[in-house]
Amino acid sequence: MLTYNERIELREKLTNGEISLELAKELYWKDYKEGQRSWHTKDWKERRAKILKEKCEICDSTDTLTIQHLSHPKKYSDYEREITRKYTQIFKETNSDIDKSEFKKHIAKNYDYIAVPLCTNCGDNRPNKRVRKLPQYRCAVCQHEFDEPIYKSLEELITIFYIDEEALDVRDKCFVSKKWKNNHNLSNIKYWFQREKAKNKDEEIIGKEAFLLYLTDDIKYLSFEDTITACRRCASNYDLKNMELCPNCKVHYKGIQYPTCIQCLPEDKRKAVLEMIEFGKEWHTMHKELGID
Ligand SMILES: [Zn+2]
Ligand SMILES: [Zn+2]
Ligand SMILES: [Zn+2]
Repeated sequence: MLTYNERIELREKLTNGEISLELAKELYWKDYKEGQRSWHTKDWKERRAKILKEKCEICDSTDTLTIQHLSHPKKYSDYEREITRKYTQIFKETNSDIDKSEFKKHIAKNYDYIAVPLCTNCGDNRPNKRVRKLPQYRCAVCQHEFDEPIYKSLEELITIFYIDEEALDVRDKCFVSKKWKNNHNLSNIKYWFQREKAKNKDEEIIGKEAFLLYLTDDIKYLSFEDTITACRRCASNYDLKNMELCPNCKVHYKGIQYPTCIQCLPEDKRKAVLEMIEFGKEWHTMHKELGID
């Protein structure tokens, strides 16, 4: 597992193009196991010791102090998805047309078309199928009754789609992906088709951008930026993601929903809150009871 400084170095080399994305990923993920966290390493322990304050930054207690992160890094796959979406958008704006026969081939290869039964009179796509009564179908819109619904051929659907992508006739999710087994309509299919093309075209750029964002997040996390020292009680009682520095004293932390930290409350209220922390109650409940919520 790379140390903090090695990660910074890796990011620099990748940014400057001194190493390839492939090599950077290999170096980073080498002996990286899911679940194995950086806080088991010597590097982390040494740097942690320098960051840890002498007392809790919320309540001033010195009981079992730990470093608590106020924000958490995203997963690499989240960044990859985000950046792919961005490049798909760019691709769509510059290559909005897909060759019709290419699109048709793509559909035939990757999807099963399950045609939707339509009313023979008005063409509505929701005729009720009756179990005991004949004729078998009854249209919910025009009340027409019939035995044989009509179906649109794939060719017809695609033709309509090429004239108007928003047309009612092409909104049904009547295509089942052979790979994912989920239902798509023609707009969905077009999106994923263009996404695939964008991915193939910009694979290296997308991968590099996503990996650099991930690395930056990862380095920030390991830098202990955006952390506070909290005692065991505060760490377990408060939602630490929703903490911020008290604007009054700029020393202690407070829940974002409260105007000040505990220490900046008037003497009587402060005492009451600290007593309640001793009983391990939630800050929220305390504030409610004290009428300062
Ligand atoms: Zn505390
Ligand atoms: Zn009808
Ligand atoms: Zn304060």
